[in-house]
Amino acid sequence: MINHKMRFPKIRNFATFIEPVKSVPRNKLVRVRFAPSPTGYLHLGGLRTALYNFLFAKSHGGQFVLRIEDTDQSRTVPGAIEQLERDLRWAGLSPDEGPTAGGSYGPYIQSERVHLYKNQAQILVDSGFAYPCFCSEKRLDLLRKEAIRMREIPKYDNKCRSLTKEEAQQKINSGHPHCIRFKLSPLTEPTYDLIRDDLNYQPCENEGDLVILKQDGFPTYHLANVVDDHMMVVTHVLRGVEWHISTPKHLLLYKAFGWDAPQYGHLPLIMNADGSKLSKRQGDIQIRNYEGMGIFPLALINYVSKAGGGFKNMDLDQIYSMDQLKDNFDLNLVHKSSCKLTDRLDEYNRTTLQQMVLKEEVLNEMIASVIKMVENSFPNIKELDLSKEHVRKVVLWSQDRIHALNDLVKPNLAFLWNVPSKEQLVDSKIDPEKLDLVIRELQQENDFELEALKSSLRRIADNNGVKFVLLMKILRMALSGLKEGPGVAEVMNILGKDSVLKRLTRAKFYLQEICSNKN
Ligand code: GLU
Repeated sequence: MINHKMRFPKIRNFATFIEPVKSVPRNKLVRVRFAPSPTGYLHLGGLRTALYNFLFAKSHGGQFVLRIEDTDQSRTVPGAIEQLERDLRWAGLSPDEGPTAGGSYGPYIQSERVHLYKNQAQILVDSGFAYPCFCSEKRLDLLRKEAIRMREIPKYDNKCRSLTKEEAQQKINSGHPHCIRFKLSPLTEPTYDLIRDDLNYQPCENEGDLVILKQDGFPTYHLANVVDDHMMVVTHVLRGVEWHISTPKHLLLYKAFGWDAPQYGHLPLIMNADGSKLSKRQGDIQIRNYEGMGIFPLALINYVSKAGGGFKNMDLDQIYSMDQLKDNFDLNLVHKSSCKLTDRLDEYNRTTLQQMVLKEEVLNEMIASVIKMVENSFPNIKELDLSKEHVRKVVLWSQDRIHALNDLVKPNLAFLWNVPSKEQLVDSKIDPEKLDLVIRELQQENDFELEALKSSLRRIADNNGVKFVLLMKILRMALSGLKEGPGVAEVMNILGKDSVLKRLTRAKFYLQEICSNKN
């Protein structure tokens, strides 16, 4: 275990950079964090980052921390933090520490830690690694325009670096607005990465000195991120590849503070199955939308796990439990380059459903949630067929036919719960006399198993001189109100004898009524 006190902020000389080892020393408690900005809701990309952090932590007996990076308050979406926490819980990725879980390194929301960043920025100023910058927005804008005119990369010219401490203090005393910039210096080592190739990028050659504290006293992402990773004793940072280029700057900050840096690994970009970009703005990749569509958490977790590597023995057809994923997780197997999702989410959801119904307890929960879903979907229908027995039968029947439980309330399967209405039968051209004959025969039928029903229906057609195809049409309409759908015998089997007779008798009365109104 790390001695946390030893890692607490302390200005030392430059930290030594230890080449990351691809296995974790046994005496070091692994601590990782997921650090989303609440500028929107959790989406697939974020879920993958959270999942890989979670699995890395759990496979090393470590801890998974949730930290909210909300220093850009203007972009914070109200309610996003709560929803993020909800989504993580739903996905089975509850953090060990975080805003709700608490923990010894809180607060876990950056806007509640602003004083810490201010202190740390001041420490860097005092030790000569940072300086106040008084350049106005107008000057910075002119610099930008000039660089563009000269076809150069726009960057700050580090003008305020040359102010003496006294000059700077004088300006501060007279109330000049200022930010704090960190002096970029050459990195002496390449930036090691646990996943990708090492990065040879020198921020100081390409960028102006880095703003770490804004004029309003809020930190920028870079400062807050580094200070928190250090203070929260984060040992490994696994984040999306879009942050790869920031890592050299973070290492420079660690160096200036005299802190040991965590080990970094940058996860590959994930793309849609067709290779198109997985955009955050696409509402449909939000986790809460998948939940709304009836996707099971484990199906979504497996879907995401099957893109981008990271697992021993990953079979694309199988659904793994979280424990299995944890046992098979290996950071060394994560792909370096961008990777595609499969287009098999529906299939994974069905397989998950099939596995879930095998457990009695889970099946019972599912039955209760289906009952709720049906009641909510048909609020105006009084006679919904919602006995536990029926719902159970439907769920078991449906596991090979649907992709998500939500399919059970779509129009083509609504007959499972609803008796067809009079309106549905008006244009059906069913002869109520014929229906009556069928009802009489079915009353004698006691075997409502699928095969038995198939042969009974043939016999009924023959006995009454009705063409089989016509009989099927009549029955399908009278039972389900549909022109197309599952086989009639199957419908009868799933509805059961009582419900079938009730529906047919009711249809007969409706039809008789319609006929007598016509005459
Ligand atoms: N707040 C950053 C984000 O929204 C976190 C980046 C990191 O993990 O360092 O993705």
